[in-house]
Amino acid sequence: MPAIIIVGGGHAAGQAAASLRQEGFDGSITLIGEEPHIPYQRPPLSKQYLAGQQGLDRVHLRQHRFYADKNIKVRSGVRVEAIDRGAGKVTTCTGETLTYDGLLLATGSLPRRLNAPGSALDGIHYLRTIADADAIRADMAPGKTAVVVGGGYIGLEVAAVCIAAGMKVLVLEMEQRVLQRVTTPAMSAFYRGLHEGRGVQIRTGTRVTGFLGEAGRVSAVQCEDSAFAADLVVVGIGILPDTALAEAAGLACDDGILVDERCRTADPNIYAAGDCTNHPNRPLDRRLRLESVPNAMEQARVAAANLCGKDREYAAVPWFWSDQYELKLQMVGFSADGDEEVLRGDKAANRFAVFHLRDGRVVAADAVNSPKEFMLCRRLVGQRIDATALANPETDLKSLLDG
Ligand SMILES: Cc1cc2nc3c(=O)[nH]c(=O)nc-3n(C[C@H](O)[C@H](O)[C@H](O)COP(=O)(O)OP(=O)(O)OC[C@H]3O[C@@H](n4cnc5c(N)ncnc54)[C@H](O)[C@@H]3O)c2cc1C
Repeated sequence: MPAIIIVGGGHAAGQAAASLRQEGFDGSITLIGEEPHIPYQRPPLSKQYLAGQQGLDRVHLRQHRFYADKNIKVRSGVRVEAIDRGAGKVTTCTGETLTYDGLLLATGSLPRRLNAPGSALDGIHYLRTIADADAIRADMAPGKTAVVVGGGYIGLEVAAVCIAAGMKVLVLEMEQRVLQRVTTPAMSAFYRGLHEGRGVQIRTGTRVTGFLGEAGRVSAVQCEDSAFAADLVVVGIGILPDTALAEAAGLACDDGILVDERCRTADPNIYAAGDCTNHPNRPLDRRLRLESVPNAMEQARVAAANLCGKDREYAAVPWFWSDQYELKLQMVGFSADGDEEVLRGDKAANRFAVFHLRDGRVVAADAVNSPKEFMLCRRLVGQRIDATALANPETDLKSLLDG
């Protein structure tokens, strides 16, 4: 009986296991994940789960019985230590050796660490896993001060949850604006205004140089010009793809495990999907490393189909979402690719979309609290469009779709 091994325990691993069965694979599937959980989704960890509004059952991608029903063996709390490509075997931390015909690496990513004096003090957190979220939640309490290092999506989502929990919140961002890496100056200003309006303090252009502590616990965050009192610190300064296992097995990596549009590595029996990959994107005509659920899911589906002997290509325009307070932001494409911005809707009402055009063609869109329109935004990417019609909220977006 053919055997497929999946290494990982996040969105990509969980989706790949399900997709293999959907594609008709009836051999053995073993999913091996280092964390002590069945595959789960990370987005709630900085949103509803952190806020205490969702339990673990809603965080798990699928419930335990799904894996039993589909005859998928899930080995949680087990790390794959090595891949022997010649023999088609993996070795786990328990010393076990398992044989594969096909292997999928869905090892995800790891938070970038801030290595500065005092960084080992208690009360300094990163946020990647359920355990991380539980540790942050245990430290949260009304009236306490949370200092968030990094004004990216995770930092701002944590800030929103902490302020809603009655805490004082200060965000320290090294760049000149929040969300600088991922969005336009206008959108950064919108989100800064939103957070400040809720009571979050934000200092941009501020570099953290270390942490001060009392009795082994963080008491302040040290910056170049001053120090800021802190009862708890959450550091969200980006992630690095987890390529350790692939690199040790001699697979080519360059800011992610290098795969082709079929999610295949240079070894024809080994595929990779999700945050850990660096992959070609045909619609955008460049290689990418993405940190998003839609990418993890789609690559997992593509890899699963190809592991089943089909010929499927990954060709999705990247998209992402972020929830802060009652605002849902959804983005498709890369706004930095545009040379013209078209606003549609009402920013003051927190319901609008910004389209990014290049040479009259839609290359990206950011939609706030407009999920229905966002579905159409995604379909408009790549189309040449009349900017005046696009800006007019009376124009039905559907009528602008080609064909
Ligand atoms: C707090 C937070 C909020 C987020 N919010 C959003 C959001 O709103 N929208 C969005 O699109 N994306 C969001 N993301 C990003 C999204 O969660 C990731 O893109 C997604 O989790 C990637 O899935 P993955 O399966 O590739 O990797 P991961 O989810 O990182 O899973 C990889 C797993 O592999 C395991 N592993 C690694 N090496 C081994 C090994 N050798 N042996 C066994 N197991 C191993 C790891 O322990 C880990 O469990 C968020 C991420 C975080 C952390």
